[in-house]
Amino acid sequence: MDRSKATDGSLTNALLKTVVSEASRYRNGIGQRPQRPEHTYSDAVATFAAPTPEIGTPAEDVIHELVQRASPGLHATTGPRFFGWVIGASHPVGVAADWLTSVWGQNAGNHTASPASAAAETVSAQWLLDLLDLPREASIGFVTGATVANFVCLAAARGEVLRRVGWDVERSGLFGAPSIHVLIGDEAHTTVFSALQFLGLGHDRVIRIETDNQGRMRPDAFAQAFSRCQQPTIVITQAGQINTGAFDDHSSIVSKARAHGAWVHVDGAFGLWARACPGRAHLGVGIEAADSWATDGHKWLQTPYDCGYAIVRDAEAHRRAMTSAASYLPGISEGERDPSHYVPELSRRARGFATWAMLRHLGREGIASMVEEHCLLAQRLSQRLAGESGVRIVNDVVLNQVIVRFGSNEPLTEGDSLTLRTIRRIQDDATLFAGGAKWKGEWVMRLSVISGTTTVADVDRSAEAILSAWRDIRFSR
Ligand SMILES: *Cc1c(COP(=O)(O)O)cnc(C)c1O
Repeated sequence: MDRSKATDGSLTNALLKTVVSEASRYRNGIGQRPQRPEHTYSDAVATFAAPTPEIGTPAEDVIHELVQRASPGLHATTGPRFFGWVIGASHPVGVAADWLTSVWGQNAGNHTASPASAAAETVSAQWLLDLLDLPREASIGFVTGATVANFVCLAAARGEVLRRVGWDVERSGLFGAPSIHVLIGDEAHTTVFSALQFLGLGHDRVIRIETDNQGRMRPDAFAQAFSRCQQPTIVITQAGQINTGAFDDHSSIVSKARAHGAWVHVDGAFGLWARACPGRAHLGVGIEAADSWATDGHKWLQTPYDCGYAIVRDAEAHRRAMTSAASYLPGISEGERDPSHYVPELSRRARGFATWAMLRHLGREGIASMVEEHCLLAQRLSQRLAGESGVRIVNDVVLNQVIVRFGSNEPLTEGDSLTLRTIRRIQDDATLFAGGAKWKGEWVMRLSVISGTTTVADVDRSAEAILSAWRDIRFSR
């Protein structure tokens, strides 16, 4: 058999059938399996470990082997009671579109290589701007996630604020450039600091703005810091704090910053989707006036990994930041969108197909009701827990995030220990999955309701499991 030419139809059929039945088995059983991996990382490495393959292995055997080796080390993140981290559930429609994306093997780099991939992005981009109610003239780069979306948007910001003071950073780099002031909330997501690091702006060379108990920039602290900044300045705000779900006060920050010539970038990895939900849109008022926005498909939109969107009001600034030379753009007539002009990569996955499929499947109505439902489930979960002695809900549950402190009447270190032990007990029980985080100096348990598969019954069952773990810890002291 010539394995390098796997064009034999029967082989493809057998492989795909194997995968279909494995996929159904996995996804249909996800609600029954424990909400934690059986294997630790080192178990998983031991399971995969083998000498470098000298000779090949038949196709079907490889796939069977992959399933066997990977399964115990999979985290049931698509399960209905997974509340750890902000992770979408890879909706079946997105998965199906994503399978086709792989099958078609398209290179989404430009619209000559794959007209359909480019078209799916162009149309999905218009839909996204409409659903998120952002300026319709904005451009969107389809990237791996919000980390890279933040990077792309901040690259556009860096280029444009320097261009306004007469410096061409795309051509000349940062050596000798006027220095840029970067204002950012103290509770911004860690990946935004990574993006600043990649861009030569430094993750520590920023002005961190003090935040309130929900992680929002304090307006007085912002105003004071901003008044001391000359241009060029970039202001980075947050729509949906990773622990509390809180939003910065965009209606005051954005207009003030832009009136003085600053660029405002919004990290809205999941929170931006509140704008697609009439019941939550009030949280994101004023966001539309910013200059750029980063958000994810693989969180609230439930597309499979990887999928994020870098959205920039000034499409030219976006394009200048991501393309190196005019000679690099032959054959692109004005007004034509080439996918690679808005992202760092040339060759890449055709992410537009899964995005298109999810937007088409859910529609405006489906997205709004899913976001609302998750917010109501988060409220229900917090209310269930709040009545118990020794349990404190630490945040205002305005979105899908709940953070919980156990041993709420105890001193700091005792409360930390009780909280961490309760989290461990919950993870061992594995009815649900939740993790911990340090919030304002104390340990808390984080719950993110963002899986398209979670029901009221799952939330009630999870609340029971959490309370039962807490009672075990509390009364075993
Ligand atoms: C998840 C998240 C990010 C990073 O997004 P990735 O998709 O993991 O790259 C950035 N900011 C916030 C607020 C997030 O929730």
